[in-house]
Amino acid sequence: MKRIIIVGAGASGLTLAIKLSDKNKVTLLEKNSDIGKKLLLTGSGRCNYYNEDMDKFHFYTDSNVSLDDFISENKKALDFYNDLGIIPSIKNGYYYPFSNTSTSVVNSIKRVLLQKKVNLITNYEVKKIENINDEFIVNDELKSDVLVLATGGLSYPKTGSTGDGYRFLKDFNLNIINTIPSLISLKSDCPFQKKWSGIRLNAKLSLYEEDALSKEEKGEVLLTDYGISGICTFNISSIASRGLSKGKKEEVIINFVDFLNIESKADFITYLDNRDKEYDLNKVYELFDGFINYKLVNVLLGKYKDKKWSKLKREEKDIIASLFYELKLPILGTSGIEKAQVTSGGLDLNEVDLNTFEVKKVKNLYVIGELLDINGDCGGYNLTMCTLSAIKVGESIDKN
Ligand SMILES: Cc1cc2nc3c(=O)[nH]c(=O)nc-3n(C[C@H](O)[C@H](O)[C@H](O)COP(=O)(O)OP(=O)(O)OC[C@H]3O[C@@H](n4cnc5c(N)ncnc54)[C@H](O)[C@@H]3O)c2cc1C
Repeated sequence: MKRIIIVGAGASGLTLAIKLSDKNKVTLLEKNSDIGKKLLLTGSGRCNYYNEDMDKFHFYTDSNVSLDDFISENKKALDFYNDLGIIPSIKNGYYYPFSNTSTSVVNSIKRVLLQKKVNLITNYEVKKIENINDEFIVNDELKSDVLVLATGGLSYPKTGSTGDGYRFLKDFNLNIINTIPSLISLKSDCPFQKKWSGIRLNAKLSLYEEDALSKEEKGEVLLTDYGISGICTFNISSIASRGLSKGKKEEVIINFVDFLNIESKADFITYLDNRDKEYDLNKVYELFDGFINYKLVNVLLGKYKDKKWSKLKREEKDIIASLFYELKLPILGTSGIEKAQVTSGGLDLNEVDLNTFEVKKVKNLYVIGELLDINGDCGGYNLTMCTLSAIKVGESIDKN
């Protein structure tokens, strides 16, 4: 029976404690007074733990390794939640607990921790880790044969993830890939943003890096006084944030009328011409009534608002069509790591065996969860990654 210390009782540490406790002596250390503080916040309190669409393009790393084999085992993460007794409610492929609350996930985990008699020590902050004669010594007092770091990233530091793990990894001389915010709002420089704040709508966002299209997302966008937010923005933010950190030019083109399935801006002008005739409209703003939020129409149209569409010159129609069909937002930055849902970057994946997540240079030291240089889109991909990395460690330790 191995003595195993897991540092951090978040999604990944909790999964591993459950997986290993049948055959090993597991001690789970958590600096908060309770477990799973971040897990409770997930999915706006509903915990989106898995997704039907597990395409590899939903996952990111800067470590120059292939994640294909790892991602191909994603079903094991779903099995974990099924084994907890969580019944899923599946909306557009997104898995939530049927109870619609993350509390039921955390409560189920607590129940299993108790059933399996995991030695959970809360209010315990790990400050020092040593590895002497094949033994790990934590805070000069706790000893183990195996040590697992599951301390999370840097985002939402009030949940306990304050980047302690990076310090421990550096002490072991391991390479950390630049940590940057991901799944985060984007700050832009757009003349309309002070006035459009608070408008929520469906749109298509196209992210251009150095003038080349790098990602497109369709869905809910929140317009804010500093730029753009919402799920759609979050899902392009990983690439934008990485690019910005390398000094690259990032721009977003918003198409507010994508749902019309119009192929080009010229066709959109023709569509507006026809709409003008069909409904015998008088003012330009009336053209957009019925399919665009009136507040946005007012903000974007400005001086054109009360003009007659049929009387406008082609160049003026072109300007108006651009505002709705291809509004350009130069991206200045993100809202910062503290507000990000996840941290991109982390332990360089070349430092671990990707099949076991054991650190190559330090026998019996394992790293799981967000501390690794893997992150995913919104949609359950990050919890899947955290759960699956823990399961892989569990399998490896059980095998030996
Ligand atoms: C608002 C929000 C919503 C999200 N929604 C979703 C979602 O719906 N679906 C999804 O897939 N992902 C979501 N995520 C991302 C997901 O929650 C995280 O990626 C995941 O929880 C990270 O798990 P982890 O175990 O790696 O780290 P964490 O959950 O951060 O846990 C790390 C734990 O380690 C403890 N710790 C740290 N340092 C020490 C130390 N020195 N000593 C002792 N303990 C320590 C911390 O207190 C913490 O409890 C969301 C994130 C946020 C912030």
